[in-house]
Amino acid sequence: MEVELISLGASLDPAGILPPIGGEGKLFVAETESGKHAVLFDFGAYQQDKRQREKESFSLLRTEESQPLKLDDKGFPDLAAIVKEMGEMGIQDVDFDSAAHPQLPNYKLLRESLRGVKELTIVATHAHADHIGGLPWLYARLKKDLQNLKITVLMTAPTRELSRWSFYDHLKIAKNKNRRIREQKFGRRNFVKPLYGISEIEALLNDVKIVEYGDVVVTGPFELKFFFNPHILGAVSVRVKISGVGDRTVTGFVTGDVRYKDQNLIPGTPIPTLAKLGIDHYLDFLLMEATYAGKALPPIAEEEKRLVADIKECIARGGKFLLGSLAIDRAQTLFDILVRHGFTDHRSKFYVPVWLDGATQEISSIYTSRLPGSTLADVAKYFVRDRDHRWSVLSSDKPCVMIASSGMFVGGWSVMYASVWATDPRNVIATASWQDPESPGGRLSGIRRGSVVTFGGKRVRFNAEIKRYRPSSHMDGDEALQTIRNLRPTRTFLAHGEEKGMDSVVAKFGSSVVKTKIGGRYVLA
Ligand SMILES: [Zn+2]
Repeated sequence: MEVELISLGASLDPAGILPPIGGEGKLFVAETESGKHAVLFDFGAYQQDKRQREKESFSLLRTEESQPLKLDDKGFPDLAAIVKEMGEMGIQDVDFDSAAHPQLPNYKLLRESLRGVKELTIVATHAHADHIGGLPWLYARLKKDLQNLKITVLMTAPTRELSRWSFYDHLKIAKNKNRRIREQKFGRRNFVKPLYGISEIEALLNDVKIVEYGDVVVTGPFELKFFFNPHILGAVSVRVKISGVGDRTVTGFVTGDVRYKDQNLIPGTPIPTLAKLGIDHYLDFLLMEATYAGKALPPIAEEEKRLVADIKECIARGGKFLLGSLAIDRAQTLFDILVRHGFTDHRSKFYVPVWLDGATQEISSIYTSRLPGSTLADVAKYFVRDRDHRWSVLSSDKPCVMIASSGMFVGGWSVMYASVWATDPRNVIATASWQDPESPGGRLSGIRRGSVVTFGGKRVRFNAEIKRYRPSSHMDGDEALQTIRNLRPTRTFLAHGEEKGMDSVVAKFGSSVVKTKIGGRYVLA
């Protein structure tokens, strides 16, 4: 019997095209006497492919034309409205033609690796788009290409709920971009094709099997145990046991994206130990995220202090404070900070209008229902309600704090607020998460104040102050090293991080640490 780990994405790209973070996908294949079985951890999407990156300059959100997703009376996306609009634009046919999609992990390799596999279990570790963004596409595609393959998809209930929003958000973004392309007469050939349509989303979500923390799922020779993982709502880490490898069982641990330290909304956990994982002897492999490997992240409390001080200073000079934010988790974390520091309290001397716009709203509602009693209880009062309201906030001369997605300014309302507010030197435009250096958010740090830049498709004089915060939900260099020290794995596979950071881990632990590459195949036993 042989056990292999195959990296499909979110590893170092030998071709040097794809960024190190995005499009996660790690496949384990085990061949036993009863046949071949496979477990796939995540199938995400990259933010954008290279071609799209170049196109962004004109297709970026420019004006007020984008509309929020319409909801039906149950609070679900109004599917009929989306279908109608997509149909009018001639984009109901989804991009299923290509064997591999430039925005997805390597499907060709996945399909080859699944040759002879009877049963595939897909685990979604959490609902960030770089981990789940390709799943509806993959599920439909596998059903078509490998009709005899039995597929099971596992995720927690919050991950399913957040993923649903993420999938529909993907359609909404495509729809809004295409509407602008049509209105600005850029030509139909520039239309953005979504990766999947509504039927693919619903087919996947209907078949999802919900897992809870502590659950153990057995599939072929694999035994998967799910642990609470402090990253975002619903995230899991997974202990893997593969039995019948020669005369023994191979043991492993998949960290998922994680920060073990307390993040206020999501409580932290101690760095795992073998005892905690229920492993007696030793760990054969550790598959670990390396987003900030080799780096020291400022303590969460320090970042919070700096953010709060900067907001106070900005408000005092009459400025507006824009936080471009990931819709999932980061927006809620930022709002939690604002509440705890009195910015939303009318009686506080730091009171200031606080607003949330874009997909941050929908995700905040999910968080509120899953985290009763948290600071998010009244969050709906802070939502930008509609277009008129948005314009009144945008054009007001009063200070405010705005939390708007997207976090890398690749689209969404954050781009519009930034492109309007950038001209005023009293204002602050801030990022609060990892930035792809190629993204508009990543380029912000290179902008000289007072220079003219194209942002959101507009030429703007960038007078506002640019700030960067990292209240990260990923582990820092020390946590990464401590995880390896605690678990003492025979081999550590690093993914989801930059090469320099990975090198620093190799320098500490030597050749037992592997920097995974896209397309890399690693024999475990
Ligand atoms: Zn994540």
